[in-house]
Amino acid sequence: MEQTLSIIKPDAVAKGVIGKIVDRFESNGLRIAAAKKLQLSQAEAESFYAVHSERPFFKDLVEFMISGPVFAMVLEGEGAMAKNRDLMGATNPQEAEPGTIRADFADSIDANAVHGSDSVENAKNEIKFFFCDREIV
Ligand code: ATP
Ligand code: MG
Repeated sequence: MEQTLSIIKPDAVAKGVIGKIVDRFESNGLRIAAAKKLQLSQAEAESFYAVHSERPFFKDLVEFMISGPVFAMVLEGEGAMAKNRDLMGATNPQEAEPGTIRADFADSIDANAVHGSDSVENAKNEIKFFFCDREIV
């Protein structure tokens, strides 16, 4: 079954909406195969978002991702990667469709509540970044 990585970012964790966001996944046919709350180090955040290292917003993105704990999950289900991206909504919450996670819980393009893998191939690497095999059940 297809798997993807979801991260509830520090803004949404601080707001206390982990449960509400997890409910969006479980109510839409995505199973939580793994989950953990953790504090990323600067080196970990830089490595996780390395594809964006040349972008002007990279420093702000890393600072934001280490500003507090995150809640990482492996979501599993048919078409899990694309389904998660649909549930998340557009990167900029002002452009996100009503009813999406970012429309409902995000404040800005920086503090945008959730991360989701953007391809099935990237999902495999991102899942390995956070979880070992025995944590995915
Ligand atoms: P994520 O990778 O976090 O799931 P995404 O795939 O929707 O989000 P990306 O293009 O991968 O968006 O950008 C990664 C993150 O970098 C975004 O979530 C956002 O917080 C930040 N970001 C992207 N574009 C901009 C921008 N133009 N200005 C500021 N921050 C940005
Ligand atoms: Mg992305």
